[in-house]
Amino acid sequence: MNQLFINGVWIDAVDKRQFDLLNPATEDVIGQMSFANGKDCHIAIDAAATAFKTWSRTTAYVRADILKKAATYIREHIEPLAKDMVSESGKPLAEAKGEWTVAANLFEWYAEEAKRAYGKIIPTNRPDKRSSVIWQPMGVIGVITAWNFPAYNPARAWAAALAAGCTVVAKPAEDTPLSAFHMVNALNHAGIPKGVMNLLIGDAAAIGDAMLDNPLLKKISFTGSTRVGKLLMDGASRTHTKLSLELGGNAPVLIFDDVDVDAIAKAAATARFRNNGQVCIAPQRFYIHKNIYKEFSSLVTKYVSALKVGGGFEEGVNVGPLITKKQRDSVLSLLEKTKKENGVILTGGDVPSQPAKGYFIRPAVVSGLDQNSSLARQEIFGPILPLFSFDDIDDAIAKANDTEYGLAAFVFTNNLKTAVHVSERLEFGIVGINEWAPHGTESPFGGWKYSGQGHESGSEGLYEYMEKKLISIGGL
Ligand code: ADP
Repeated sequence: MNQLFINGVWIDAVDKRQFDLLNPATEDVIGQMSFANGKDCHIAIDAAATAFKTWSRTTAYVRADILKKAATYIREHIEPLAKDMVSESGKPLAEAKGEWTVAANLFEWYAEEAKRAYGKIIPTNRPDKRSSVIWQPMGVIGVITAWNFPAYNPARAWAAALAAGCTVVAKPAEDTPLSAFHMVNALNHAGIPKGVMNLLIGDAAAIGDAMLDNPLLKKISFTGSTRVGKLLMDGASRTHTKLSLELGGNAPVLIFDDVDVDAIAKAAATARFRNNGQVCIAPQRFYIHKNIYKEFSSLVTKYVSALKVGGGFEEGVNVGPLITKKQRDSVLSLLEKTKKENGVILTGGDVPSQPAKGYFIRPAVVSGLDQNSSLARQEIFGPILPLFSFDDIDDAIAKANDTEYGLAAFVFTNNLKTAVHVSERLEFGIVGINEWAPHGTESPFGGWKYSGQGHESGSEGLYEYMEKKLISIGGL
């Protein structure tokens, strides 16, 4: 299962290239993976285009049956699937199991939702004319996803696209291919017809280019950096490729002075460092009301210092390694830059002596920074919690919105008026009020501004893979 999956079979890449997969917690090689290029991608798109002719004409009930069997397979094999996710990503085992559960839920939810892709009948202004609107599957979909959620990221797009009647050519991140292999395996066991689901791991730029060049591929669903999102937008005009983009974030967290400071500080220490901060909606810029800043700062520092760092299989671990050495080096150099910008590291920020191997950093809390600092301006994607303060509602909103990103924002207050007014004035696609997980299988997830376009999950996620068609009948 370390090969490509094209037209219903596991095969090597055309030019037989392979690469080593590393465990980020031990730096051990855990497998050799086939490495695809643009040629493999064109072959996969051809297979998916042929399969689309029949898959798109099956009923939503037939598709649902297969997707629900895949969900069952995932649930029945959750233990080994989660273990492989820990090995490839380093995340704690409990987080990996939780992620696989959500992936299974996505397949089940979209299996049901596609049965409800209702159109509409429109009353016309002429007695001899009738108008209706129907939804139809778009065609072959390219799905390019990031490593931070090896099962959840692909599952959101694959489940919705397949349920809609589309066929898929997927390219998950090279750092975490094992979860994608398992998900394809689940679909294969469930009886997905050949060519409907295809999997490539390999040269990202070459595969991305092949998707943009090939007119048979109608849309790319992309989860990743704003940098690559822009490259895809540039290339999309070549063959009119549609795009759904789930890009970077830089989420503000506004904590007002009417909350239980200890409880929020404790929860913040866990929420900020979930998946090591490598989350696009991760709470990042902590803006604390000036009246509670000192108290919050000392409490959150205490709780963050107590987080346990280690490999994902260790009992009681809260924070695993970063995904690669490159990612760790970039977080360490960001911390060095922060010190030059007058940042004061209240805890962590160094490489622990134990575990001796792996890409670990102790979770850091940083204060003393202003709105122009790097930690306020750029997406961190690592274990740093920067603290800032605000004076009043207007100041809080101005600082929160002062970013090119617009994915998620968080508000903590017990005042209903504050909660409503602040949430309506925030320029973000997702606002969490008094909660750290403002998302769900059934809810639309998408960013404003440089954070992307389109939505994943919820019924909106289904229609991303369907075309609207007006059928107008005259002369009746
Ligand atoms: P991250 O910083 O989260 O790794 P990237 O945008 O670099 O974000 O990667 C997200 C996904 O995009 C991965 O699957 C990666 O292989 C892929 N990718 C990277 N560069 C390109 C590219 N030029 N064209 C298409 N996909 C790319």
